Amino acid sequence: MIELKNLSMSYALEHGRLDVLTDVNLEVADGDTVAIVGPSGSGKTTLLVLLAGLEPPAEGSVQLDGRALDELDEDALADLRRDQIGIVFQSFHLVPSLTALGNVALPLEIAGATDTRARARAMLDRVGLAGREDHYPRQLSGGEQQRVAIARALVHAPKLLLADEPTGNLDLRTGEKIIDLLFELNADSGSTLVLVTHDEAIARRCQRVVRLHHGQLIEEDSGALPA
Ligand code: ADP
Ligand code: MG
Repeated sequence: MIELKNLSMSYALEHGRLDVLTDVNLEVADGDTVAIVGPSGSGKTTLLVLLAGLEPPAEGSVQLDGRALDELDEDALADLRRDQIGIVFQSFHLVPSLTALGNVALPLEIAGATDTRARARAMLDRVGLAGREDHYPRQLSGGEQQRVAIARALVHAPKLLLADEPTGNLDLRTGEKIIDLLFELNADSGSTLVLVTHDEAIARRCQRVVRLHHGQLIEEDSGALPA
C-alpha cells in the first residue's frame, strides 16, 4: 500500500535549514496497522503530510497503491487523496458551519457520490452518534467531534486511513473509546492504518511500531499478539 524510498524533508530556516526526515524507508502492506511514535517535534506530522501527498518531499519518493505521487499532476493527486485517503487530526478540523451530518456527507458530495446523506447518516450511526445528525460541532463534546471526524474520514471507504494523534485533545477515558472505535472500524473496512501517537500503549495495539529518531525510522517489535 505504501512505499517510501530514501525520503528526506527539511524546512528552510532564517539561517540554514532544519532536517526533519533523513533517508526514510518504509513499506506497509495492504491492511496493515502501523504506529509511528516519537517525541514532539520528531517529524511525525511531517511524515503524514508527505504520505497524504499534501506536500512533496525534498528528496525520495512516496508510492501509494503502486503509484508514485511525484508522477501525478495536481488533479490526479487530488483525486487520489479524495478517493483513497481518509485523515483524522488531533484537533478534529470539522467545518463549524456544517452539522455533523453535513460534515460527514461533505467528502461524498465533493466526490459527486449519490445517496450522500443516507450514507453519512449510516456512518454517524456506526460511530454512535445516531440522533446527533443536526448538531453543529460547537454543540458536541470533544469525543463526539472526533467521532464525527472519524465518520468523515471513513465514509468514502478509503484504502488508507491516516490518524495524527487522534486522542491528543481528549481525556484518557474518551481517548480509549475513540481508539477502540478507530481500530474496530478499520478492521471492518480492511483499510491500512497509519497511526501517529506518542502513547506507547496505543502504539502497541498496532501490528507494527516504527519510531522516529533523529530523522530516521526504526522498526520496533510491537509486542502485539499475532492476529
Ligand atoms: P511532530 O508531529 O513529531 O511533533 P512535526 O512534523 O510537526 O513533528 O515537526 C517536526 C519539526 O519540523 C519541528 O521542529 C517543527 O517545528 C518543524 N516544522 C514543521 N513544519 C514546519 C514548517 N512548515 N516550517 C518550518 N518548520 C517546520
Ligand atoms: Mg505532530
